Amino acid sequence: MSIEALVENPPLQVTSLFSSEEFDRSVMQTYGRFPLALERGEGCRVWDTQGREYLDFVAGIATCTLGHAHPAMVAAVTEQIQKLHHVSNLYYIPVQGELAKFLIDRSCADKVFFCNSGAEANEGAIKLARKYAHTVLGIKEPVILTAHASFHGRTLATITATGQPKYQKNFDPLMPGFEYVPYNDIQAIEEAIDRLDNPERQVAAILLEALQGEGGVNPGDIAYFQRIREICNAKGILLILDEVQVGMGRTGKWWGYENLGIEPDIFTSAKGLGGGIPIGATLCKKFCDVFQPGDHASTFGGNPFACAVALKVCQTLERENLLSNVQQRGEQLRAGLKAIVQKYPNLFTQVRGWGLINGMELQPDISLTSIDLVKACMAEGLLLVPAGPKVLRFVPPLIVTAAEIDRGLAVLERAIAS
Ligand SMILES: *Cc1c(COP(=O)(O)O)cnc(C)c1O
Repeated sequence: MSIEALVENPPLQVTSLFSSEEFDRSVMQTYGRFPLALERGEGCRVWDTQGREYLDFVAGIATCTLGHAHPAMVAAVTEQIQKLHHVSNLYYIPVQGELAKFLIDRSCADKVFFCNSGAEANEGAIKLARKYAHTVLGIKEPVILTAHASFHGRTLATITATGQPKYQKNFDPLMPGFEYVPYNDIQAIEEAIDRLDNPERQVAAILLEALQGEGGVNPGDIAYFQRIREICNAKGILLILDEVQVGMGRTGKWWGYENLGIEPDIFTSAKGLGGGIPIGATLCKKFCDVFQPGDHASTFGGNPFACAVALKVCQTLERENLLSNVQQRGEQLRAGLKAIVQKYPNLFTQVRGWGLINGMELQPDISLTSIDLVKACMAEGLLLVPAGPKVLRFVPPLIVTAAEIDRGLAVLERAIAS
């Protein structure tokens, strides 16, 4: 994300005691930060250290499923921290089992492994696929195909899986065993599989996002994914879907793959799963027992605290009927964005997305970037996040109301007009 380019900001007094200059002296400068320090939140609103209110259509980047300070989350956090917050996976953790059961009852998965982030969930998927390739398929050098413009995380294996050179630069040598293809291009997948078809080095898995989030909010094509599923079935290749950004109700269905009419063999979840509490999951169908005791682990993974909160987030999503809210609010938002695109055809090209993950694309040949618009909206009290230099991304909490969508659209129009 070109947000890294965002460095030339004026110093910001973060609190009365702490300036952004001091912050940058002690915190590694891995992020381009907006000149804004947030202190408090409630529902879809957040307040900065000066008490200014913002409508939050970023939600910690598609993470705060229930918004901020949701009473159900506050209660779950409070109850669990008073009871038991962390024990090792040396022991059975009842609420981890409950959360796993909830997830498999609402997906195609048979079993779950819990970890702490999206990258770690994808690492688990990659390890599982490689072990399956070695021990079941007998492939000596398994290759995983991933897509251009994809995003799978920042660990070494996941920056390698990520088909964007800007995330890999200067971190070589990268991991062996990955090849890249253009997204939504079935011919490219078929050619890569044929090209690599020899006993030593073969395609063992295809890792894709159902909708590319960071890469510009590019929805997967139904025919493309259905054909991939057929190819995978015919050749014994695993289909892994990275559902870190689009899973957990974000698209108006529990999982992104439900929009494509297919089921993956492995998929991963993180961002929205804990509603902002760090938790990730690798979910698998059928051959989950390829992982044996000792093969994979994570100290914090699936601890009682994270699992109790994630379970509460899941139950609340269902109890408050949020999937249908996501569908309705998503349609409302897209209709409003499309009206803006029609009004300003020399600024925007199109709106695309599913449920409450939507992108508004800027004309390629104008100097205006998504960062410029994010800054203009911020000045008017609306938080948005870019998805690349030319796409504005809208990922509000799944509890967003019709009135808040209208307010967000009005602020955006004001920002564009200015
Ligand atoms: C955010 C994201 C990741 C990385 O998740 P982290 O929790 O930051 O490691 C991986 N894949 C996708 C699709 C993402 O959107």
